[in-house]
Formats: sequence, C-alpha cells, structure tokens
Amino acid sequence: MSKKLLLKDAHIEGIRYFETYRKQGGYTAAEKALKMTPDEILEEVKTSGLRGRGGAGFPTGMKWSFLAKPEGVPRHLVVNADESEPGTFKDRYLMEFLPHLLIEGMLISSFVLGSNVSYIYIRGEYSWIPDILEEAIEEAKAAGFLGKNILGTGYDLEIYVQRGGGAYICGEETALLESLEGKRGNPRLKPPFPAVKGLWERPTVVNNVESIAAIVPIIDMGGAEYAKIGVGRSTGTKLISACGNINKPGVYEIDMTITVEEFIYSDEYCGGIKDGKKLKACIPGGSSVPIVPANLLLRTVNGEPRYMNYESLADGGFATGTMMGSGGFIVLDEDQCIVEHTMTLARFYHHESCGQCTPCREGTGWMHKILKKIEKGEGKMEDIDLLWDIQRKIEGNTICPLGDAAAWPVAAAIRHFRDEFEWHVKNPELSQTQNYGLAHY
Ligand code: SF4
Repeated sequence: MSKKLLLKDAHIEGIRYFETYRKQGGYTAAEKALKMTPDEILEEVKTSGLRGRGGAGFPTGMKWSFLAKPEGVPRHLVVNADESEPGTFKDRYLMEFLPHLLIEGMLISSFVLGSNVSYIYIRGEYSWIPDILEEAIEEAKAAGFLGKNILGTGYDLEIYVQRGGGAYICGEETALLESLEGKRGNPRLKPPFPAVKGLWERPTVVNNVESIAAIVPIIDMGGAEYAKIGVGRSTGTKLISACGNINKPGVYEIDMTITVEEFIYSDEYCGGIKDGKKLKACIPGGSSVPIVPANLLLRTVNGEPRYMNYESLADGGFATGTMMGSGGFIVLDEDQCIVEHTMTLARFYHHESCGQCTPCREGTGWMHKILKKIEKGEGKMEDIDLLWDIQRKIEGNTICPLGDAAAWPVAAAIRHFRDEFEWHVKNPELSQTQNYGLAHY
C-alpha cells in the first residue's frame, strides 16, 4: 500500500475546518518552519527532490532559488489552481477537502519567498471552491496563522482567491499572470521569466496546488526523509486522478514505486477495466501527453515493467514512452475509437488556442477539420500524412506549450494507431456507424 502524505486525513469528517485540521496536527509544520530561516527551509525543499506537480516536473527548490530579490520590490507567490487539463481533477480534491493543507503550504512557501501578498488563481468552473478557500483563509487568520505578525514573528501574509473566467490557456503561468492583472489571458514571450518579471513586473513564483501542499509534509518529516519515498528523481508521493473505462475512477495518492499494471488492475486503485474489457491505451498525464498503447504502457520496449513515475513513463522518449504530466490518468478500453478520441482533443485545443501564434491558431483548426473528415469516413490516405505534417509544424514553433500539447496527442495517435486511421479511410460506410475498436476486437 502506498504511503499517504497529502490525503492521510482526507477521510476525517470536518477536516476542511480549522479546528479539526489543527487537532490532526495541522499547522505544526508552519510553526516549525517559522522558527527556521527561509534559506534553511529552501534547503529542505531542495533536499526533498520535490518536482512541480502541475505537469512540467521542474524541481521546486531550484525554481524558488531563481527568484530575483531586487531591493524594495515586493515578491509574490501565485498558486496555479486553474486545473483545466482534460482528465485532471486532483487539485480540486485537495482544495475541496483539505483547504488548510494548501493554506499552510502557502504560508511556509510565502515565508521562504518573501511574499507578503500571495494569490490562488482558480478556474472559473470550480465555482463552489473559492468559498471553501476563503472560509479557510478567514479561519487561519482568526487563529493567527495569516495576517499581521504571524505567531509573533513579525512576518505578515495576506492570501487572496481570484476566480478565472474559464479559459484553459490561463493555466499557462504567464497567461495566468496576465489574467490576474485583469487583462486578457494571453501567454507572454519568455524571457523575462516570472521569477524576474512576473505579477505586475515583480518577481513571482507560480506553483501548482499539489506542489505547495507537499511542502507541509516535507517540513514535517524533513527533506531527506521525504526523498526516501519513491524512487530515483521521482521522490515523495503523487496524486493521480484516474478516469475513463475503469471500475474505480477517483483521486489516488501513490508513492511512485508501483507499476502501471498494479495501478490499473489492483483493487486499491483503478480496480481493472470496466465490464471485463481489454485495455487498449492510456494517456497517463492529462490530455497533453502522448497516448500509449497497452503493450507499451505495461512494459517498456526492453520488457521492463513500466512504473508510475517520471522516468519510467518517459522511458523510450515519445517513440515508445509518454509523460507523467499532471497525473490525469485516462484509460481507454478496446471499444474506444482512437480517431474519434483524437478528434475530440483536437477540437478542445483549437477552441482553447488564444490565437496569438499562427501555427497554433491555424494548425489546431486544420487538425480538427482533417480528423473530423477522417472520422466521418470522408478522408483520403494523404490526409493522414497531411495531419502528421501539420502537427510537426506546430511543435516547437509557438509562444507557449499549448501548441506542443495540441501536436503531441495527434503525433502519438498516428504513430501507434495508424491502422485505425487507415481503416476509417478504407471503410467509409462502416466509419459512420461503427469504429475500429468495435470492428476489430
Ligand atoms: Fe496562444 Fe497557442 Fe500561441 Fe499559446 S501556442 S500563445 S495558446 S496561439
């Protein structure tokens, strides 16, 4: 059984309220941290090996150490709660059931970064969660863990919750900052990076909800102990939101030493494929990472078991591997049509493109149109090559990662499931009534 650090108290009734959270040992990490220096805490975070849980997996301690500290200029921590990646809903769970874990993590992190005003930017669709967070903020303030002179240390911190307007692109950190400043959420050109010029041109760290929540157990147990959980550079625990054709969709905390096979088939996690069907493919890290067919999902090309961690999922690069991403684990059974699935994703990325750069604005639309054509049985063989060509021209040629995120699913689908695309072209009548999955398994 995986060790639980973040969700260990999630089952306790009333844990979302300060009194219960405090009784379970809440805010003792904050008390401990505020007796340390910011540099000492930073060292603990670096030692823990924590990697950003939003998708990129960049080491959190290193990110914090990049923060510029010009004299007299305020600095900010912004928590990215714009969780809009299809298949990803772990941060929602944390904020809804354990809001004080996030607030405590923000207190410690803001203290390290020297932020006196920190923000939670939350996606507009999570309309009921800001009230939960604001209530937790008020409770923490009343107990002396937020506001002026926290615990008599002379350190002040205010936390504000900002609701987004429902645009996926605002999960990109610079688009998020634009939106937080009250502008249209268009990604900025980098450099300068937010660590130098972020919110209102002030040095800013943007971190994912889960990353900030993980700071609490890191301080509680110490960075070295935290680093002993997991394997290699995949230290600590990771929240996975599992969905699709499985028996037990939900949010699971894993310690990154379990195999993908165990995660899918064990009763502790997904509980196997629904209705006893066969596993066809999976997107293990949210819709932006490459889809992998069952044979490469459970084992690498070397025959090694595939593990639920950053390195093992990426083994073989994009040719045979995928990415841990945001931990949005989407399972597809044998009946699912890869072309239809890819078309749905292409429609999403086209709709969410901010339109600033041509390859993304035009390319996502073209990919959607061609996929729609193929899926309806109106495509030609050369359309598959055209699709491949378009995704190649998008990847790496855009301002922000949305372009890559739109290109990779298409590339992986053609790479691994070209036969399905060809089947749709060769069987125009069947294409409209069936799909490759139903016809072949
Ligand atoms: Fe906008 Fe797409 Fe360019 Fe990102 S890649 S800046 S979403 S047009």
